[in-house]
Amino acid sequence: MSVEGYESRIIDGKALARQIEDEVKSELEALESGRGITPGLATILVGDDPASRMYVRIKHRACERVGIRAEDHILPAETSQEELISLIDSLNKNRDVHAILLQLPLPKHLSPQEAMEAIAPEKDADGFHPYNMGKLMIGDEGLVPCTPHGIIRALEEYNVPVKGKNVVVVGHSNVVGKPMAAMFLNRNATISVCHVFTDDLKRYTLGADILVVAAGVKHLIKADMIKEEAVIFDVGITQEKDGVYGDVDFENVIKKASLITPVPGGVGPVTVAMLMKHVLKCAEKNF
Ligand code: NAD
Repeated sequence: MSVEGYESRIIDGKALARQIEDEVKSELEALESGRGITPGLATILVGDDPASRMYVRIKHRACERVGIRAEDHILPAETSQEELISLIDSLNKNRDVHAILLQLPLPKHLSPQEAMEAIAPEKDADGFHPYNMGKLMIGDEGLVPCTPHGIIRALEEYNVPVKGKNVVVVGHSNVVGKPMAAMFLNRNATISVCHVFTDDLKRYTLGADILVVAAGVKHLIKADMIKEEAVIFDVGITQEKDGVYGDVDFENVIKKASLITPVPGGVGPVTVAMLMKHVLKCAEKNF
């Protein structure tokens, strides 16, 4: 990747993730010594999708680094909805488990919505429960989804003002696009949410002071689609034989952007670090 001369424009997700993990580590030590609580995260993986396995492994490694006790529940792909809910129920009741993470996607015969709703809202590390999503919509950001939360943190860290800015979010998923838009609205930005049915995407992206792209389409955003000095967050991940690609044509877009996240090493590590923050929050019951 040739970005010589533009390095200062790169948002270093790995460095920010390390900083967030350091914060978690010291808060966690205070929680252990002060109240005798060691935060516990239970992850649930149904089936053996390799990408999902890898994501769960990455989260467990982060738990090890910060001192969170993590337990791994791996269920066979043919698990029934009742069996899955029954595991969630038992984890809800387990006092050593402060946070629960259900790795998505689930096998097709299972309802992710029903499973999410079964997780106790106060143990909902991912912030996907309708109760937590509803709170987010009314401006009460307790447990919110990790990826948008990480992007907000990065904006704060890099001193990017949000109030009154034109923000465009490409992608309207429940895990990234919609909560991202709500978090920007809560901060008084003006939002456009674009998606696969948006007519003339470029018309919107060209007006963005801040652009968040979460479509999962390799190099969807080209340099001629952004305005000079825009701040760009690339959430997308496309895994190909020769590497991992984002939704943004990084090498060309960086020449116009004022700040941009790379893929890999941008939004991904910050997302995982925010999950650690959320587990700690669940253990502290601080929301
Ligand atoms: P999704 O896959 O559920 O949906 C894709 C969204 O993009 C939809 O809103 C769709 O309408 C829109 N879209 C698709 N093609 C488009 C196009 N050509 N033009 C405009 N919009 C288009 O969304 P998701 O679950 O938010 O995932 C999006 C991407 O982000 C995926 O690549 C996923 O792997 C990645 N992701 C990364 C992280 C991370 O931590 N880095 C976290 C979550 C998701």
